[in-house]
Amino acid sequence: MTDATRTTEWVARLKAVGIEEAAFDLRHILLAAADDAEAEAMVTRRVNREPLSHILGDKPFWTLDLRVTPDVLTPRSDTETLVEILPTQITDRSALLRIADFGTGSGAILLALLSELPNATGLGIDISESALAIARENAARNGLSDRASFRIGNWAEGIADKSLDLAVSNPPYIASGVIDTLEPEVRDHEPRIALDGGENGLDVYHTLIPELFRILTPGGLMAVEIGYDQGDAVMALAKQANFDDVRLHHDLAEQPRIVLGRKRDS
Ligand code: GLN
Repeated sequence: MTDATRTTEWVARLKAVGIEEAAFDLRHILLAAADDAEAEAMVTRRVNREPLSHILGDKPFWTLDLRVTPDVLTPRSDTETLVEILPTQITDRSALLRIADFGTGSGAILLALLSELPNATGLGIDISESALAIARENAARNGLSDRASFRIGNWAEGIADKSLDLAVSNPPYIASGVIDTLEPEVRDHEPRIALDGGENGLDVYHTLIPELFRILTPGGLMAVEIGYDQGDAVMALAKQANFDDVRLHHDLAEQPRIVLGRKRDS
């Protein structure tokens, strides 16, 4: 049993390096560690600003428990906004919907949508083979392997026209110059390829959004995550790409977070 003095000391060490959620992090470390020596080692990693998700090796997302490594972006609770909103836009949730998630990473968005849409099937695409290995493991871990498949790919390249009902993505959208100003957990430990959206953060949307329009079936829906200041720009791109009903949704912190669009049903 870890004594109170030790616990207080660990919290103090975490707080001293600017970790505000020190008590929360320590609670999870103590639950995961087999003994004090292991807890001590984990606290030291956290003091060195490794993300808690890398130290624990997992992260809850929506109703799922996901394995997380430095090969994938740690799923953020902000991203749950997409999982919350998209199913509300679907008239028949039991339909045989075909979903694709571009830049699937840990598989978080795809697997959470599959958990909400019981007859849907999903394809997760990523440029990183090591990310895909994690996504496959997460599908198995959450009992969704029979409805999820994963393959390597460069965004929607090679996906047939009008072949999907739902197309989603949380692409890299941080402006390149901003990455070095982010907290060390993100800057030093998360995959840059999952963060770097080019000079103004919008590079991927320019190519991806017209591609999402191409691969969606008439009546199909797209939903992409965006940065807090990218709502107008990404809505404009969606309209240019011919999407209808283009809308912006905010996250729980009331920041613009998700852009939705529908391909006309004709
Ligand atoms: N929301 C993430 C962050 O700020 C960025 C994710 C992304 O670029 N898609 O760390």
